[in-house]
Amino acid sequence: MNSSSADGWSEKQHYLIPITPRPELCFMRGEGHYLFDQHGKRYLDWIQGWAVNTLGHSAEVMQQALIKQSAQLINPSPAFYNQPMLALAELLCDNSRFDQVFFTNSGAEANEGAIKLARKWGQKHKQGAYKIITFDHSFHGRTLATMSATGKEAFGPLFEPKVSGFTKIAYNDLAATEAVIDEQTVAIMLELIQGEAGVIPADAEFVAGLDALCKQHNVLLIVDEVQTGIGRTGSLFAYQQYQAEPHIMTLGKGLGGGVPIAAMVIDEAVSCFDYGDQGGTYNGNPLMCAVSGAVLQEVLVADFLTQVTRVSDYFCEQLAVLASDFGLGATRGKGLLLAINTGAFSASKIVELARDAGLLLNAPREDSLRFMPALTLTEKEVDEGIGILAEVLAHLKKFAQ
Ligand code: PMP
Repeated sequence: MNSSSADGWSEKQHYLIPITPRPELCFMRGEGHYLFDQHGKRYLDWIQGWAVNTLGHSAEVMQQALIKQSAQLINPSPAFYNQPMLALAELLCDNSRFDQVFFTNSGAEANEGAIKLARKWGQKHKQGAYKIITFDHSFHGRTLATMSATGKEAFGPLFEPKVSGFTKIAYNDLAATEAVIDEQTVAIMLELIQGEAGVIPADAEFVAGLDALCKQHNVLLIVDEVQTGIGRTGSLFAYQQYQAEPHIMTLGKGLGGGVPIAAMVIDEAVSCFDYGDQGGTYNGNPLMCAVSGAVLQEVLVADFLTQVTRVSDYFCEQLAVLASDFGLGATRGKGLLLAINTGAFSASKIVELARDAGLLLNAPREDSLRFMPALTLTEKEVDEGIGILAEVLAHLKKFAQ
């Protein structure tokens, strides 16, 4: 790969509005489980676009779908039907408990749509009920309404005044949730595994209890599966592993396998938008829908999800060995959305050293590493990544003494 096209990249950084600290790297190419930087150095990628690249970097089926669809039709406008949009909506409904889909470009927009739909439903069917219960440490996006719904502490003082109507409750606390439900409550919205909070799963009894509360109080259950959906947790959708019948599910990330597409998927009983309430220039554009359809077809191939669970078990076993060798804490999460407590080690220091050693990781908290590899992961890459992690931890241990 010729890296000369990256010449001068570092002098161009100031053209971008700074929104996050980025390492001094410029990625040039991706292939499956690997990324290659401006020097041609290879990295095993366990960030994968932030739990996005379902099939790894530049999967062949995605390239083919992009090429084929781009030659055929890119955007006829959202005011017309197109075939990939219809086919993808059908695929999502046929493989879930839901009946209708609204496509968006990002997870935040899908959640924004869910909040709007719940409020509309409250206006039409519950005497103007509008309050939505969400949870501490949750993450639902960065639009104003989704930041208002989000339970991340750092968002608290930002961009005041927030959108009102969100009540935040401790995650996994059913009694506290029940205590705040009143006639104005229209929905409960949660992640089944809180990803950005550091991979914190919802308890089975908590979710079953929320489902029962929703039925008892005529409240909508919204599951934000932007991070957990499309096979990430070993089932096509995480709600399928819980005793719950959500009315609304939002998807993003893995749905596009790397391209920007997200969706709100709903029970038709709660479908109540009037024309003009919801829309967007790019929603359901055939280019993104065709790629997403190709990704979903792969995930639906027999054995794909069984292999996700199989490799997840192996990954967890290897993490347990690492934990006992280096005094790390427990592994948490499901499928290929996993995290480990780093014990006495600084997670951000591990991330930095692992990157130098050719492994890309994320530290959602100072005491945790998160693993979100492509779902096509095999035992081979697990061994490679765990090997790098072991070297990094051995190095840190040596210098701590
Ligand atoms: N919901 C969840 C659970 C997420 O993890 C994220 C992104 N990290 C979002 C919503 C927002 O998605 P997007 O960045 O595509 O707007």
